Amino acid sequence: MPGFELFGAEERKEVNDVLETGILMRYGFDAQRNGIWKAKELEQEITKTFGCEHAQVVSSGTAALTLAMAALGLGAGDEIIMPTFTFVASFEAVVSVGAIPVLVDIDETLTLNPKAVEEAITPRTKAVMPVHMCGSMAQLDELKAICDKHNLILLEDACQAIGATYKGKAVGTIGAAGTFSFDFVKIMTCAEGGAVLTSSHELYQKVDQFSDHGHDHLGKDRGADLHPYLGYNFRISELHAAVGLAQIRKLNTFVEIQKKNNRIIYDALKDVPGITFRVIPDPAGDTGSFLSFFLPTEDMARTAAAELAAAGIGGNFYWFDNNWHYLRKWQHLQNGAFMNRLPEEQRKQVMHYANMAYPASDAIMSRCISSSVSLLWTEEQAKERGEKIAGILRNVIEKSVVNI
Ligand SMILES: *Cc1c(COP(=O)(O)O)cnc(C)c1O
Repeated sequence: MPGFELFGAEERKEVNDVLETGILMRYGFDAQRNGIWKAKELEQEITKTFGCEHAQVVSSGTAALTLAMAALGLGAGDEIIMPTFTFVASFEAVVSVGAIPVLVDIDETLTLNPKAVEEAITPRTKAVMPVHMCGSMAQLDELKAICDKHNLILLEDACQAIGATYKGKAVGTIGAAGTFSFDFVKIMTCAEGGAVLTSSHELYQKVDQFSDHGHDHLGKDRGADLHPYLGYNFRISELHAAVGLAQIRKLNTFVEIQKKNNRIIYDALKDVPGITFRVIPDPAGDTGSFLSFFLPTEDMARTAAAELAAAGIGGNFYWFDNNWHYLRKWQHLQNGAFMNRLPEEQRKQVMHYANMAYPASDAIMSRCISSSVSLLWTEEQAKERGEKIAGILRNVIEKSVVNI
């Protein structure tokens, strides 16, 4: 997910436009800013690039999720169904609006298993939040059908899949709202930043207001704005938006390179006996930022991950042992280590789901390795890397088979 790898003259130029005026804030100071509105321009680029009516650029992906949930009316006691494999931000945002993250099993798409979603629905369920992990996408047709049938909101966490498409539509534009993250390691970056995408004007307006202390942004004079709602400050700065503006113009190039390099690694691994690959609901829409594959057993996967690291081949993630992305190691959540005191009823519900057993997810995640793809590899380097990874996997699997 490495837009930062191609940081260059374009980003410097955009940032410099802002530095020349000295107006680092996205709102107000109309006379002094010389027509420079980087955050607004980035929002326009987002709507054009991804095909949605509205976009609100904010300070982070976590902020985008929080705003989207609040604007969608999700709050106290509402259950939001989400996968056991995600980034911690997804459940942090749910908890922050007073709702309950209902964690459900994933399948070999590495995100929500539609059957598990349907089984988890209760009278308190309000939304389903697929997380398009590692550059690819969830089974959106199936999830949308479930949402339609049960009158639930589909909210897409597309923070890791900027540029992915599903049946020709950009992920993040298929649900009632979608979110992107532009943090430093995402497919494109602002250094820090995020966005809410939606085609509902009403929702957009709420997100816009909520991200800036409830300002209605309707007048010329910021000091005279009305405040239809209480809000927070989740604003992005012009400096961050400027970086994003240069990056979004290069997004197609990033995705093309990722796909090409991903294919080279795939070609090297596809004939290793015992290796299978993540199921991608629409392969043409994958961004290629990771190649995720499965070994036959947990032992083999753990050994392979250790041997890849020992051989100095970085960027191979064994999420099962990682404490940011998979429920098994979210000990802070399982222990209820919230910084602020939650209402007792919410805390009880959150803990209930956080401490459930998820054997179906474990069976998948314990065998999975995700290999990240760089924009900087030459074709030679990608091939060499693929062969090295294949060699290690082959060895680990052959040795284990002999031991059985
Ligand atoms: C990165 C990420 C976020 C949060 O984004 P930040 O910009 O880092 O706050 C949310 N969800 C997922 C799946 C992510 O990968």
